[in-house]
Amino acid sequence: MKPISSLSLIIPVYNEEDNLSLLHESLVSTLAQIDYDYEIIYVDDGSSDTSFTLLEQLAQQDTKVKVVQFTRNSGQTAAIAAGIDHAGGDAVVFMDADLQNDPTDIPMMLAKLNEGYDVVSGWRKHRQDTWLTRTLPSQLANWLISKITKVHLHDYGCTLKVYRREVLQGYRLYGEMHRFLPAYAAQVGAKIVEVPVKHHPRRYGQSKYGLERTFKVILDLFTVKFLHSYAQKPIYVFGSVGIIFMLSSFLLVSYLLVRKILYGYSLVTNPLLLMSVMFVILGVQSIFMGLIGELLIRTYYESQDKPTYSIGQLLNIRKD
Ligand code: UDP
Ligand code: MG
Repeated sequence: MKPISSLSLIIPVYNEEDNLSLLHESLVSTLAQIDYDYEIIYVDDGSSDTSFTLLEQLAQQDTKVKVVQFTRNSGQTAAIAAGIDHAGGDAVVFMDADLQNDPTDIPMMLAKLNEGYDVVSGWRKHRQDTWLTRTLPSQLANWLISKITKVHLHDYGCTLKVYRREVLQGYRLYGEMHRFLPAYAAQVGAKIVEVPVKHHPRRYGQSKYGLERTFKVILDLFTVKFLHSYAQKPIYVFGSVGIIFMLSSFLLVSYLLVRKILYGYSLVTNPLLLMSVMFVILGVQSIFMGLIGELLIRTYYESQDKPTYSIGQLLNIRKD
């Protein structure tokens, strides 16, 4: 396996003005202690505070600092995708800008990577977020993602992860999907290891997320599972469900007819039955409509090669 000699650090930044200089100092001092070429790619996700001006200053002082600016807020996943698109290192390190992740974990993770792994996944063993709205839903989501993708990790949500760059090629990221990257990588045969990392409470600025993200993640999980197992044969999924529905309705109607003919019961006196049938149909319909939407949106972006983000300025990055 090729030894790693250069790193691309990818850091999405959305309104993190109070964290940036501390973060950058701490990154540079950690990276000075290890012997790798590196670039730090800050992706400014349409910040409305002074984050971009601060990044401009960093880029002026240091050509290792690269900045991709989005014209509008497009989300952490799009920022990560843009970072990957502009990364040139042998290994890619993802990190949050808010100092909740600790740069001093990076050397240990790189050492792990050099032991022969393709993905080193951070695990916030002592997570410093609100338990009820953040940690608990995230534990449930991790359990579910592990079950469904069959790639067992304690902490899909931890941004601090290190990848060999090859294993990141060829994925398009949508929604909240950067967190499924380890599962994707596993599908192409990547070797994954999980290591406990430090985690700090957010000191400055606010978290951009709340409980609603858990729902987005669970919905994305449907897509991931669907695309992984059935994208080339959607008729198996749609068809099986259709057949099951038709069979059940056939059985139900037969039963009701038998009751009617033999014992004279009315077919339509129980409204609850009708309601539950409607709910089931509606629920299943919406999930599957969602999946069709996912397929369509891929055609939309990929057939025209449209990126899922829109770039304003690039600093220290050549456009080619
Ligand atoms: N972030 C971003 N775009 C967004 C929301 C967040 O680039 O729309 C960045 C944010 O600046 C931070 C990282 O993504 O570097 C994680 O966000 P946050 O700390 O709010 O999430 P949490 O740690 O609370 O899960
Ligand atoms: Mg954070």
